[in-house]
Amino acid sequence: MPLPIDVRNPRTGAIDHRIQPLDFDALSARVARLRNAQRHWVGIGQQGRIAAMLALCDAVDRHYQPILAALSADTGRHEWSVNEIEGLKGITRMRCATAEAALAAATGDSSDPTLRFQQQYVPYEVAGIISPWNYPLILAMIDAICALLAGTAVAIKPSEVTPRFIAPFLAAVAEVEALRDVLDVFEGGGESGGWIIDLTDVTVFTGSVPTGRKVQERAAAQFKPVFLELGGSDPAVILPGADADTAAEIVVRGATENSGQLCCAVERVYAHESLLADFTDRVVARMQALKMNTDRIDDGELGPIIFARQADILRAQIDDAVARGARVLTGGKIVEHAGGLWCEPTVLADVTQDMAIMRDETFGPIVPIMAYRTEDEAVALANDTAFGLSATVIGDEARAVELGSRINAGGLWVNDFDTMGGVGARAEKNAFGQSGMGGSRYGYGGFLRFLRKKAIVVRKARSA
Ligand code: NAD
Repeated sequence: MPLPIDVRNPRTGAIDHRIQPLDFDALSARVARLRNAQRHWVGIGQQGRIAAMLALCDAVDRHYQPILAALSADTGRHEWSVNEIEGLKGITRMRCATAEAALAAATGDSSDPTLRFQQQYVPYEVAGIISPWNYPLILAMIDAICALLAGTAVAIKPSEVTPRFIAPFLAAVAEVEALRDVLDVFEGGGESGGWIIDLTDVTVFTGSVPTGRKVQERAAAQFKPVFLELGGSDPAVILPGADADTAAEIVVRGATENSGQLCCAVERVYAHESLLADFTDRVVARMQALKMNTDRIDDGELGPIIFARQADILRAQIDDAVARGARVLTGGKIVEHAGGLWCEPTVLADVTQDMAIMRDETFGPIVPIMAYRTEDEAVALANDTAFGLSATVIGDEARAVELGSRINAGGLWVNDFDTMGGVGARAEKNAFGQSGMGGSRYGYGGFLRFLRKKAIVVRKARSA
């Protein structure tokens, strides 16, 4: 039996929860149950699967309070826990609305008039989803929704850092008869994650680059496909002539959503020298207006650092920047309050590209700002990274699209931040560089990850 895993409360630092991962045999039996039920799940057809997924939204509403309480305890923040539940229902409904179009198989004639072909999509039997701690519910389910609608059963292994939501969420799943045998969620750590790869047919992993590498290697040894959604160090470029206040609003929102614990958070800012001072002042003012939710979970925009070791990374990055000449314009400290850890909203000036804060993933509410002179320089700085998740460009729309098109990243937000949700039904994007691998999570590609294509080619009967 694997050892139990203690779970820390991010608001108090106390170990107030414990999970007991299944051993390999028990996990195998639960995944076998999913595999057996998958045939029936395919048999109920697209409309049956859509009805089940919409019924899940209603079941989640019936279990809203326990799920919200557990997610809030997992993450120490209230508003984004509400957003996760609402987001789950919104994405599910959006995917249900487009599933049919995305999964329509092409039937047609070949260029050879004596042949007729039919394109079939064959779902994998069981997909494994391994997810991180920053948005426990959404990142457990975002790919599962498409897998299920495509006809694939799903085994999810969320992060051991934030597992409290699993039990109340499974209680909601249990109320949907058609779904409960093809969707399961397992408590456990890295060992359980490895077993999920072994026991399923295709893996979607969302998490860090080092773990992603291990996942890829394990799956490769078994010739199993893997989709990797990894980290980022997303740049924001502020063009000359941009409205400094609008730019500051977008950058601060992009850097502080979920306290910066977001894969596509704005982590590096390159401002044209002509507006550097004005823009920086406005960023500082907006950051200083943000409140940490230390006293009450629902009062303040900035929640605690969910994963305690992340605090050491933030502290080390700030210290490294200061040691190399950066100036702290506001914030700069990790504060402890009643056992929890919060990162002050922080702005750094005089940063240089060699600092860890500009090279590594940060995952905290920190805005390092650097000046640039020419567009070529801005592009070179934005591209000076191993990652390539997304980028923000703010300023004249045509120039922003032109400059942004030269940035090596799968998503480009022009004059806003992370607008993928608004177009995710159709728009697709890949992760460039070390930010990930495999077909798009968004758009029709999100469904196609779980399907293999089969061409059925029929020789037409010869006429006499
Ligand atoms: P992590 O890599 O430490 O853990 C992710 C998951 O992998 C957890 O469930 C963990 O239990 C599991 N795991 C650990 N070792 C494993 C192994 N050997 N085999 C299989 N599974 C294993 O990541 P984290 O710290 O939980 O999450 C933060 C990271 O996730 C950041 O780098 C962030 O950028 C990234 N992230 C990416 C996206 C995206 O969409 N690209 C979204 C959110 C977070």
